[in-house]
Amino acid sequence: MPLSEFGLIARYFARRGVERSDVSLGVGDDCALLRVPAGHELAVTIDTLVAGRHFPEETDPRAIGHKAIAVNLSDLAAMGAEPAWATLSLSLPLANEPWLEAFSAGLFELADFYGVQLVGGDTVSGPLVITLQLHGFVPEGEGLRRDGANPGDLVFVTGTLGDAGAGLGIVQGRYFTQDEALRERLRQRLDFPSPRIEAGLSLRGVASAAVDISDGLAADLGHILEASGTGATIRAHQLPLSLDLIDIVGEQEAIELALTAGDDFELCFTVPPEKQTALADLGIPCTCIGVIEESPGLRILDESGALLTVSRAGFDHFRKG
Ligand code: ADP
Ligand code: MG
Repeated sequence: MPLSEFGLIARYFARRGVERSDVSLGVGDDCALLRVPAGHELAVTIDTLVAGRHFPEETDPRAIGHKAIAVNLSDLAAMGAEPAWATLSLSLPLANEPWLEAFSAGLFELADFYGVQLVGGDTVSGPLVITLQLHGFVPEGEGLRRDGANPGDLVFVTGTLGDAGAGLGIVQGRYFTQDEALRERLRQRLDFPSPRIEAGLSLRGVASAAVDISDGLAADLGHILEASGTGATIRAHQLPLSLDLIDIVGEQEAIELALTAGDDFELCFTVPPEKQTALADLGIPCTCIGVIEESPGLRILDESGALLTVSRAGFDHFRKG
């Protein structure tokens, strides 16, 4: 017998994972009842994944569950917020139990790791669409906003850039290598992104602005520049590139992917010069790639100091100008 809506919620989503003390009432009533700790602001973010658009229909459902929460955790990280509660709206073509089993496992793996409780949602039949909302806390006034960068601040990114873009190129058949382990590592960067929650939390009081890199560095750093009313110069040869990425696409294309490919979910942030030592003490794996300037726009220099041009849209191609 096919699973009813309530059977489905009960089996895969209700009373699973962590139980938080700030949840008075979770899944099962008309609303969840939740308590924000005193002196904190509620950080709220939501993302929708549409099958065939944000992921191919046949994607591993565990990866879809992981990604649905990871992209939202990444937004909380970029705000310096501590993750707390999730709500989930699911539109499903049919109650496919192996799919639900793997999807919910991927979702709860990451939810449990970060202490996030699923407190409610909605389940309907329709095309496969997953909407997940996350709620987190940030001490009043300490959120890492996009509009706080000032001329002279240094620009940093966490981790390495472009790997998820290479993973997508592999899935789409644009990149190829005989090395199966290499292919697998880059696909993992695409399918199982690691949100930089710990980095975001420790950057409170140190970073002047932050954004997560979901559309490509050029586009996302562009959001900081626009919101802050500033510009920046970054150096292409200082972009952190993984050996895997250079292995598969070569250095030139690796730089292009690092600047324009999305889905890395690393953080880009700015730090005032007087906070450099405080940043170093945090021990966050990050790289300085440039500096904020008064003059608007993003300038990208190659190794010789010549200007490269990048279109504002992260996914557009860039060429030497
Ligand atoms: P209502 O009709 O009052 O909106 P529903 O019948 O849609 O309630 O849902 C019943 C309960 O199950 C609610 O507490 C709701 O938050 C929860 N719920 C529904 N779908 C999901 C889901 N996909 N994940 C988590 N909780 C869900
Ligand atoms: Mg409902």
